[in-house]
Amino acid sequence: MIKNIPVPGIEEYEKGFWEAALESKLVVQHCHDCDQPRFPPRPMCPQCHCLEYTWNQVSGEGEIWSFVVPRPPLLPVFEEISPYAVGLVSIKEYPLIRMIGRLKFNNEQNEDNFEEIIIGSEVQVSFQKISEEICLPYWVMG
Ligand SMILES: [Zn+2]
Repeated sequence: MIKNIPVPGIEEYEKGFWEAALESKLVVQHCHDCDQPRFPPRPMCPQCHCLEYTWNQVSGEGEIWSFVVPRPPLLPVFEEISPYAVGLVSIKEYPLIRMIGRLKFNNEQNEDNFEEIIIGSEVQVSFQKISEEICLPYWVMG
């Protein structure tokens, strides 16, 4: 039985993302040679096959591209917090890059008002520390 939030194993080429997240910073991997941004992090540029990369911090602003409210059956750790919304968010600086994360209202009283979630709404990233190595990005609606 999986009781905690399943966390990813962190590969070498992903470390920059997770290290920045520990400092509450959102970064996007860029190719060292052609500067193409990519997400999720990968070891090789899909455009020019360069194996070197850099990390550029972004504002953490984005907009809701899509979302879902997961329904049971869920893992116990998610069952405890259900219902909740998960968003697919376009990053402001790179709209073709979309990141998944929990969607939260900035006002706790609206926590279950999923009909108020509007595609295209602006969101701001925040981070939840779930282990010594992992801070999970999530998205706060205005
Ligand atoms: Zn490249």
